[in-house]
Amino acid sequence: MTYVIAQPCVDIKDRACVTECPVDCIHEGSRTLYINPVECVDCHACEPVCPVEAIFYEDDLPQHWAHYRSVNAEFLAAATPGQRHQRDTLGDHPLVAALPPQNPHKKEISVFAVRKEEAADADLWFPS
Ligand code: SF4
Ligand code: SF4
Repeated sequence: MTYVIAQPCVDIKDRACVTECPVDCIHEGSRTLYINPVECVDCHACEPVCPVEAIFYEDDLPQHWAHYRSVNAEFLAAATPGQRHQRDTLGDHPLVAALPPQNPHKKEISVFAVRKEEAADADLWFPS
């Protein structure tokens, strides 16, 4: 089992997840990041810090992004071990490369997004 990065990361790439990963299994393409399913230890550390909710446990992927399980795996399977640790030099999986530019406002949204765990804490203190 693994976690998967889906389409909301495309053209965001703020790399908040990278610093959380204890096993360095999140790798960078040109327009998005990818999780290596062979290296991921299912620790969940990356998922709550993503400002655009791009990271999913593979069984929880929304159906319209289910193909991102293969996108992550295929992109990293195609890279050599050395390439996996080179930043910004690998291009992207063909499905990601073919996407039109994602909404430029997404970057602004990511700056102001509240982390999911912080929102849950706020609910405890300020129940509606
Ligand atoms: S679940 Fe843990 S090991 Fe897997 S990508 Fe996220 S931080 Fe890394
Ligand atoms: S935290 Fe989310 S948006 Fe940022 S790089 Fe990771 S997957 Fe992409």
